[in-house]
Amino acid sequence: MEMEMEMEMEMEMEMEMEMEIERFLNKVRKTKDNSCWEWCGAISSTGYGNFTINGKTVGAHRVSYKMTFGDIPTGLFVLHKCDNPRCVNPSHLFLGTHTDNMNDMAMKGRRAQTIFQFEIRRGESCGRAILKDEQVIHVLQLPILTKQMAKSLSEKFGVSVGTIKKIREKNGNWKHLRHHSISTQDRVNRLLGS
Ligand SMILES: [Zn+2]
Repeated sequence: MEMEMEMEMEMEMEMEMEMEIERFLNKVRKTKDNSCWEWCGAISSTGYGNFTINGKTVGAHRVSYKMTFGDIPTGLFVLHKCDNPRCVNPSHLFLGTHTDNMNDMAMKGRRAQTIFQFEIRRGESCGRAILKDEQVIHVLQLPILTKQMAKSLSEKFGVSVGTIKKIREKNGNWKHLRHHSISTQDRVNRLLGS
């Protein structure tokens, strides 16, 4: 019974996949290195990313696995090498049996405290309001912001290039920090190295 439902769900996932890939990827914060890809959408009570397809909620990590490697054999679970349940980096995912899953869960239970701390830390990396004030101020005080600088800062701070650029826009999200901006004269002086 459960198996049938699962198969049905997998089939529906297949049909919808093409249309849904973009919507899925919009909720993922990917990284260039091989670190975790944070799911920025809904999170289940057990800490996994939730993705809704056709009114059905499925594990975001399962969707990621399927998009990358194809079907998940019936009865198998998609497990995390990285122990970060909201991670959807396909290279951090592997298939396991029910027993593997139980062992994995037991292991995670023993390490709950560590994972909890990890989650809180990683949780900061989703969404736009995650820049620390001092990072925003740092960007505001740069004499200039080139494309290359915005790119390297975005990687350093774990946000998009657009987010970095927005910091310097007048009506952006960090209006309350704009008084930290330096004057035009200061910008010129800094550029001249004086
Ligand atoms: Zn991961």
